[in-house]
Amino acid sequence: MSELLANHVAGQWQTGQGPGTPLFDPVLGTELVRVSSAGLDLAAAFDFARHTGGAALRALTYAQRAAMLAAAMKVLQSHRDTYYEISVANSGTVKNDTAVDVDGGIYTLGTYAKLGEGVGDRRWLLDGEAAKLGKDPLFQSQHILSPTRGVALFINAFNFPSWGLWEKAAPALLSGVPVIVKPATATAWLTQRMVKDVVDAGIFPPGALSVICGSSAGLMDQLQPFDVVSFTGSAQTAAVIRSHPAVTQHSVRVNIEADSVNSAWLLPGEASGSEAIDLLVKEVAREMTVKAGQKCTAIRRVLVPQSLYSTVAQALSARLAKTTVGNPRNESVRMGALVSQEQKASVLAGLAQLKTEATVLYDGNSTTLVDADASSACVAPVLLGTESPMTAKVLHAVEVFGPVSTLMPYDSIDEAYAMIRRGEGSLVCSVYSEDPAFTAQASVELASSHGRVHAISPDVAALHSGHGNVMPMSLHGGPGRAGGGEELGGLRALNFYHRRTAVQGSALALDQLAAQGVALPL
Ligand code: NAP
Repeated sequence: MSELLANHVAGQWQTGQGPGTPLFDPVLGTELVRVSSAGLDLAAAFDFARHTGGAALRALTYAQRAAMLAAAMKVLQSHRDTYYEISVANSGTVKNDTAVDVDGGIYTLGTYAKLGEGVGDRRWLLDGEAAKLGKDPLFQSQHILSPTRGVALFINAFNFPSWGLWEKAAPALLSGVPVIVKPATATAWLTQRMVKDVVDAGIFPPGALSVICGSSAGLMDQLQPFDVVSFTGSAQTAAVIRSHPAVTQHSVRVNIEADSVNSAWLLPGEASGSEAIDLLVKEVAREMTVKAGQKCTAIRRVLVPQSLYSTVAQALSARLAKTTVGNPRNESVRMGALVSQEQKASVLAGLAQLKTEATVLYDGNSTTLVDADASSACVAPVLLGTESPMTAKVLHAVEVFGPVSTLMPYDSIDEAYAMIRRGEGSLVCSVYSEDPAFTAQASVELASSHGRVHAISPDVAALHSGHGNVMPMSLHGGPGRAGGGEELGGLRALNFYHRRTAVQGSALALDQLAAQGVALPL
């Protein structure tokens, strides 16, 4: 039997009871390690993090905690090769895709180390200016933000075991809030190893960083009023989290990052052969194939003017045909596997659902896999298309979490807006056009239903960060179906881990507050 990974709780490494759940190589099918959270004293784990870890972190300033993030980043950088090996084995990713997760996580941690340094030697934050509460200016109100005296529980998705940890842990720890992370079981190994390296390096105080691998049973039951929970995963599990008594009865603050049927939109007015079309085609193909389409931000719907439907279909199919799929250890492979047999089954079932309303424009599954066979979790890119997207239902509603996208023609701008909004709230929409005025107008129009609008024109062709890449300086999250959450956005991320309080009193006392505090340099 393979190694049973230890959990880190109450300041100690502890293995769970029983044989545990095995994690597999999705290409070779071999068992890698096991995880178990059975028998852990969860109450003691949360209590230790909340009280011992929390008190120690809150005693530090933002600048001191930022220095710890920087030290953690260096530790992670020194073990990078190990993380790449784990990712290839457990997530089935090619090197470039591993970088999105591993290096993306380390980069995000480093960004918060720098941002936190700028907040300085303070332990709480000012929020805005003092305001008079009546005619006499002596009695005023000043808002302040103080770190919550609870624990931050992270329940994470399988697709980003590194980035998903650090994009949440960096702002939490910088805020002075201890973290307990429960990675998705299928890919928990990388999260566990990264936490282990950082904990063993002794950077953070005991109780600041805990990891629980395996079943989520009982975790939500531990939450108390000042705790927060940040969930990333499917809409179905999100509904379970939202309806848990900790949230409904104790007002535990919750952030949800759920699934999303994101779109890319080629604005009208582009002639066949234009650079904007080329940019759209490159990006859609990239989004379909990076991490085998297992990205919450990936492009699922591609909207193009009716007159360009065939042109884009051909260009996209030709580009996708260049994607070699198979074992990520083979240098010629451009796209690895889905993370598990369960995900493969889920993608194939989702694809069958989409096909009830769409036809296949390109299917890479007719070509041979490289160094892998049909028993692996590899699925090649599939481009679907529909001539009647306005009457489609499934195509706007079902997120197939794999290398699948659907091309949709539109007749008018209003029709395009209506279709994009049928996603009922998405993480990101990208717009492609050479017309800056129209791009600006479209961005405002799309803002209310998206967390991010990625506006691409030829002048930023070589500069842009990519439709699906989540940058720490920009907001991540989306309204409605996307979960309604907000993450990152630079120092805005600290809001989730702080409580806002209005202090009403004499202007003399508030002057003292203002002299001691600092506002977030947003
Ligand atoms: P999932 O099945 O919902 O699982 C997410 C996490 O919830 C896992 O850690 C899972 O643990 C845990 N979990 C399952 N049931 C639970 C329960 N009853 N109580 C508490 N926790 C529970 O999602 P997934 O399959 O890992 O991730 C894929 C989905 O995540 C996609 O839909 C994708 O769009 C979405 N996603 C969104 C974002 C974003 O930022 N918006 C980012 C990445 C992924 P186990 O693994 O042990 O079951």
